[in-house]
Amino acid sequence: MVARVKARRQGSPSEHDNGRPVFQLHLLMPELPEVEVTRLSFAGRIAGARIESAWLGKPLRWPLGIDPGALRGQTVQRVRRRGKYLLLDLDAGLLLIHLGMSGSLAFATVLPPAGMHDHFELATSHGCLRLHDPRRFGAVVWAGSEADPVARKLLGRLGVEPLGDAFDPLAFWQALRARRAAIKQVLLAGDIVVGVGNIYASEALFAAGIRPTLSAARLSRVRSERLHGAIRGVLTRALEQGGSTLRDFSSAEGKTGYFQLEAMVYDRAGQPCRVCGSTILSLRQGQRSTYYCPQCQTA
Ligand SMILES: [Zn+2]
Repeated sequence: MVARVKARRQGSPSEHDNGRPVFQLHLLMPELPEVEVTRLSFAGRIAGARIESAWLGKPLRWPLGIDPGALRGQTVQRVRRRGKYLLLDLDAGLLLIHLGMSGSLAFATVLPPAGMHDHFELATSHGCLRLHDPRRFGAVVWAGSEADPVARKLLGRLGVEPLGDAFDPLAFWQALRARRAAIKQVLLAGDIVVGVGNIYASEALFAAGIRPTLSAARLSRVRSERLHGAIRGVLTRALEQGGSTLRDFSSAEGKTGYFQLEAMVYDRAGQPCRVCGSTILSLRQGQRSTYYCPQCQTA
């Protein structure tokens, strides 16, 4: 895979925060690496901050579930990630943030005035955290604990983390053997392994040479292990690129740059395969477009 970064920006730095540029970002759907890079962009700086106020704009995908005023005085202890959720642990309870289709977070000591697509803000003693989400499929949800029904509903069915130790090749193969659905659909479902979205599922299947429509149950152990390695590989490379994008292009005080590895198959229908030259094909699986090379992905 060509490790070229597309730092998706619109135009040049348009605003400044403490003399540092704040980029206006082109928005694409955040997947696990983007969410993790977002977490890394502010987790260290917000840890230990006291919440001074919380503000809600237009309704998001799910309600906050608490009076924003009740968050005042709480401390943000740390920021974790589970799948594509960011978890802000407070003194009492936690905030779950999902970026949806188009969300992005900014954290800075001073932010420009809120715009029409800014819908949540947490003013803290260390700076202001703001959710920008034009399509409003994102959400900020408060839960008393991870055992709360609200949190369990969002987090309870998530599979293992693809980059964690619990993502084990043998357990992965055994879980796949119980599924008759197409392997791509099984990956997207997220209940075996979490956070492998449309882009990275397509890319991992290409890297492993597996046709997206193959029944998960029919994957041999060898091919399943190859897919396991490919999933880790594409996500790890995206995270590495995201880290460098973060250093190179985003304001350390402001918005995070999303990034995307140059795809081998994703969104490349009709173009030649970068490996064999065959024409990349696309098909619909569920509601999503799938891209594959008919020559390289024969299993
Ligand atoms: Zn090919």
